Amino acid sequence: MKKRNSQLNPRMRWLTFSLLLFGSIVGLSFSVSWGFYGHRLINKMAVFTLPPEMLGLYKRHIYYISEHAVDPDKRRYALKNEAYRHYIDIDHWDTIPFPNVPRDIKTAILTHGTLVGITTEKDSADLSSQVVNIDSLYYDLLSMDRYSKVIELDSENVSVYLSHDPVYEEYLFLNPFVGYGVLPYFLEDYYHSLVRQFSGGNLQGILRVSADIGHYISDAHVPLHTTVNYNGQLTNQLGIHAFWESRLPELFAEDRYDMVVGKAEYIEDKRTYFWDIITDSHRLLAEVLEDEVYIKKNFPTDRQFCFDERLERTVRIQCKEYAAAYHNLLDGMVEKRMQDAILAIGNLWYSAWIDAGQPDLDKLEQSLDKTKISAEQEALDKARNQNKIFGREH
Ligand SMILES: [Zn+2]
Repeated sequence: MKKRNSQLNPRMRWLTFSLLLFGSIVGLSFSVSWGFYGHRLINKMAVFTLPPEMLGLYKRHIYYISEHAVDPDKRRYALKNEAYRHYIDIDHWDTIPFPNVPRDIKTAILTHGTLVGITTEKDSADLSSQVVNIDSLYYDLLSMDRYSKVIELDSENVSVYLSHDPVYEEYLFLNPFVGYGVLPYFLEDYYHSLVRQFSGGNLQGILRVSADIGHYISDAHVPLHTTVNYNGQLTNQLGIHAFWESRLPELFAEDRYDMVVGKAEYIEDKRTYFWDIITDSHRLLAEVLEDEVYIKKNFPTDRQFCFDERLERTVRIQCKEYAAAYHNLLDGMVEKRMQDAILAIGNLWYSAWIDAGQPDLDKLEQSLDKTKISAEQEALDKARNQNKIFGREH
């Protein structure tokens, strides 16, 4: 049931021109993916998808799981490579079903990266054709730092992988692939670290990685986390990112969304599962953008933006009625993506526990070091308060 001819006010036609002038100046400096509210809610509700063997522990720590759902966004202020983990600009590389995008990070990086030598005079040369064993070079020198855009290599170490005598002062591996985001690759890596936390019986690690991976899985469910046009900046829709993923859930999730999504199930093929999430998100992108264009054109201009008090600041933000009109046009999309995110998180927590051999979680309780947790939290909050983000906002 599509809604192009729906119940919109007849006044809504005259304003195209003034909209073009006016519509692009939205801007919310506090925007983060799903908003803090959305991420916390999604992680919290994922707990209720778990089987009895896991439910007890996760319920006892539900406050932690939900509060720490936003740590990865805070970490973008503290860690140089954090931002790339939250998105993939998949349309930079290919179109659905992305046959040309390698599913494993090694192939992706080696396809797009370049090994460069730099002389003492600062001249540089592409050395890619001189590498004799690229696989070893990758595993020995690159893989540790694979999510950096530029990997600095120790000259001594590089020479054994090259067919010539070293004449360069410095060696760099330029790694442009990660700049377009690594979300599905990082999810796969991070999933393994959750399995390791379960296998090692480290409760603190289980909670921390569970909360974190919940965040990244939620980000993967947002269509605007899968595109170069992530904030509508290429289509004159600046601000759409926070509008869709923060403003709409903040206004409508609590009263209208059904967040009980069923029981977690074991996922056999994690890689395909993560890529399917990205593909499903990307498939919705056109509608996210088109519906906003439509509503912007057809809703009275002077009732689109309101002023709101946030953290002692006045911000210009989409008015509730305007947001409701967009929300209606999206026809349940935001709720569905949230529900899918909740279930996916439960599925992955559950699968990691199974893959770790179903350890008895109730025995782990004593190992929790609360002082360490609060010290980690303080460091993150401090970085965030300094307010300088590495990489982009969205
Ligand atoms: Zn994020």
